[in-house]
Amino acid sequence: MKPSLSRLALPALLASVAAPALAADAGSLNIICGVQAEWCSLVQTTFSRTTGIKVNLVAKGGGEALAQISAESANPKTDVWFGGTGDPHLQAAEKDLTLAYQSPNINLLRDWAVNQAKQSGYKTVGIYSGPLGIAYNTELLAKKKLAAPLCWTDLIQPQYKGEVQMANPNSSGTAYMAIATLVQITGEDKAFEYLKALHKNISQYPRSGSGPLKNVSHGENTIAVGWIHDVPGEVMQGFPVKSAAPCEGTGYEVGSMSIVKGARNLANAKKFYDWALTAPAQELGLAAKQFQLPANTAAKVDPRVPDVKRIKLINYDFAKYGKAAERKRLLERWEKEVNGGAN
Ligand code: PLP
Repeated sequence: MKPSLSRLALPALLASVAAPALAADAGSLNIICGVQAEWCSLVQTTFSRTTGIKVNLVAKGGGEALAQISAESANPKTDVWFGGTGDPHLQAAEKDLTLAYQSPNINLLRDWAVNQAKQSGYKTVGIYSGPLGIAYNTELLAKKKLAAPLCWTDLIQPQYKGEVQMANPNSSGTAYMAIATLVQITGEDKAFEYLKALHKNISQYPRSGSGPLKNVSHGENTIAVGWIHDVPGEVMQGFPVKSAAPCEGTGYEVGSMSIVKGARNLANAKKFYDWALTAPAQELGLAAKQFQLPANTAAKVDPRVPDVKRIKLINYDFAKYGKAAERKRLLERWEKEVNGGAN
């Protein structure tokens, strides 16, 4: 007897029914994402589409992410912490909140990314890098007849009163890096004198590191302390924004990634981690109009990525400023002497 048409179609039908079941079997992954929303979203959809793994993603600044992972440590809900400045990742490593994992793809990375892994005992890894600096709205400056700020010292001049924003260093890794950078340039006491003077010119300390620049783009604020590599993306959207690499020198971030210790979806976390270090995954930053330097040596480097050879970079001490006690101490001093004390 010939098999009926319906019997022939059955395996195909079963396969199509089985496909969603297989995808569900791939499980899920919970990510805290520390880069900008467009990049987070591309990472989420691309990884999910290629693996069938359901990705739940929440965006957090570096300080907030560290606080959440610390609060969840007895019962972790997060599997991977993707992106954001390196210091809080190092602090999480020191506090044993993250897992040592040596990805086979680590050998695809630039030296500074590998160094980030080595100094944390492989509990974190560098995924991109970029310099800290000053950004300003050229139209607002012209309207107010103000010169463009080129140096850290410019930001404390009286003509910029109420014109400057920096993020709140408690929630933002960017602002913590700004404080640590100034401490390394001038010494700690002088840096706090500077921060007190800066406070007089600050209109607001937004929660997120990208907040001050967004406000500059939208004409709600004139000058931002932020990432030089974030400026080309704003220019692409037509905003009248320029950046300056501070004349005294500046720090740079090694944006990092870590797996949470006790992650419930550990196999998926490792799969994601390995994938995130590949060149195609690293190029998603550029696809999202982000201009950090990718850690993977084979990933495309856009001409708009800041050329650090033309920027006076300090030798940022990641080991020292990546320490939990140092972060706590500097943040307490900032709260006491600058944010609370000077009000
Ligand atoms: N946004 C971008 C594009 C970044 O590169 C980084 C740092 O890696 C951040 C935000 C950091 O955010 P936050 O300062 O809120 O911790």
